[in-house]
Amino acid sequence: MSDVIIVGGGVMGAATACFLARDHGAAVTVVERDPSFARASSSLSLSSIRQQFSQPVNMALSRWSIDFLRRVAAELAVTDESPAIGLVEPGYLYLATPAGAASLRDVHALQRREGVDVALLSPAALSARFPWLAVDDLALGSLGLSGEGWFDGPALHRAFRRKAKACGARFVDAEAQGFDTAAGRVTGVRSADGMRVVGDAFVIAGGAWSAPLGQALGFTLPVSARKRDVFVLETPAALPGCPLVIDPSGFWFRTEGSLILAGGPPRGDDPAEAPLDQIDHGLFDDQLWPTLAARVPALEALRVRSAWAGYYEMNAFDHNGLAGRLPGWGNAFTACGFSGHGMQQAPAVGWSMARLIAGLDAPLIEALTPQRLLDGRPLLEANVI
Ligand SMILES: Cc1cc2nc3c(=O)[nH]c(=O)nc-3n(C[C@H](O)[C@H](O)[C@H](O)COP(=O)(O)OP(=O)(O)OC[C@H]3O[C@@H](n4cnc5c(N)ncnc54)[C@H](O)[C@@H]3O)c2cc1C
Repeated sequence: MSDVIIVGGGVMGAATACFLARDHGAAVTVVERDPSFARASSSLSLSSIRQQFSQPVNMALSRWSIDFLRRVAAELAVTDESPAIGLVEPGYLYLATPAGAASLRDVHALQRREGVDVALLSPAALSARFPWLAVDDLALGSLGLSGEGWFDGPALHRAFRRKAKACGARFVDAEAQGFDTAAGRVTGVRSADGMRVVGDAFVIAGGAWSAPLGQALGFTLPVSARKRDVFVLETPAALPGCPLVIDPSGFWFRTEGSLILAGGPPRGDDPAEAPLDQIDHGLFDDQLWPTLAARVPALEALRVRSAWAGYYEMNAFDHNGLAGRLPGWGNAFTACGFSGHGMQQAPAVGWSMARLIAGLDAPLIEALTPQRLLDGRPLLEANVI
C-alpha cells in the first residue's frame, strides 16, 4: 500500500496509524507537533466507555471497541511486551426524575433494539443495588449491565503508538501548517519550519485543533476546543459497585481506585480554548458538591485533592465524530470532532479509517462521513456528557 501521512498523533491518529501499518502494510508517517501530548485530549481524558448513546452508530462503535479493549493485550503486543490498560466494567447509570423518565424510556427502547445490554431500574431496585444512593426524587435509572466502564486512556494511546512504530510507522515532530495540492489531490504537508512530507493519502486527526487544517484544504470543520474540568475527590466513604453515575442535573461521578472523579457541564459561556490552568473551582463549591452530597449523602465528608482540565474536541454541528473522506478531495480524510467520546471510539474508528484508506468498506463509520455537513444532515447525539 501507499504512503499515508497523518497530522496529529493523539489516540485517533495513533490508532489509525497502527491499523494501517499492522493490517494493511502501509508506510505511515504521523506528524505531531507536541510529542509530550501535554494538551492533547488523549492525555486529559476520563477514558470511560459506554454503550448508552442515542445514535446507533455510537452504540456500534463502542461495541466494537469494548471487544477490542478486552483483547488489547494480544492485539497490541510488541515482541514480549503486552499493554495493560486496566479495563473495568462497572457500567454507566443514567438517573431520571419524573420529568426525564419518558425520554429515558425512549432511548432505552432504542438501545434494546440495537442489542445494548441495559436495564431500567425502579427507585426501589436502585436502592437495593446501590444502598448509598439517594433515590427519593428519582423515577428511573438506566444501568449498563455489560460493556461499560473505564480504562487507562493514556496507556491505550501509548500502546497504539508503540505498536504502530513496531509495524514501521514513523512519528515526526513538526507542526503542520498547510498542504500542497495538484490536480485535485493533496500531494504533501508543509510544516511551520519549512519541512515538506509527501504522500499518497492524508488524514486530519488534529483533535480540537483540526479546523485550521480543514481550512487549509478549503473545508470548514466546525470543531473547536471546549474546556472541561475534572475534580479528584478524597472521601472516607466506600461506594461498593459504583458505576459512572450521570445525575439528572448533568453532573457525573465515578470511582478511580479509592478516589472519586466528578465533573459536569461548564457554567455560563463555553468559550473556545479557555486556558486549561483556569479550573472553575466555583463550579465544584457552588453546584457540584451540593448536588453530590444530596445524591450520595455519604459524600458530605469529602476533600478536593486536585483537579485538571482538558479540551473536548467539540463538533458544533451535531456533537459526533467526523470520520471519512474529506469532500472535494479524493485522497484526504479526517478523523476529528468526537466531542468527548473519542477515547472509547478510537479502536473502532482507527480500524475503520485504515480500511477506508486502504480502499475497503468501512460500514462502522459510514454515518460519520463529513459529507453530512454539506448535506445539512446532522446526526444529533442526545447523550453528550
Ligand atoms: C476531561 C475529558 C474527559 C473525557 N472523557 C472521555 C471519556 O470518558 N470517554 C471518551 O471516549 N472520551 C473522553 N474524552 C474525549 C477523548 O479524550 C477525545 O475524544 C480523544 O482523546 C480525541 O483524540 P484525538 O486524537 O482526536 O485528539 P488529541 O488527543 O487532542 O490529539 C490531537 C493531536 O493533534 C496534534 N495536532 C493538532 N494540530 C496539529 C498540527 N497542525 N500539526 C501537528 N500536530 C497537530 C495535537 O498536538 C494533538 O496531540 C474526554 C476528554 C476530556 C478532555
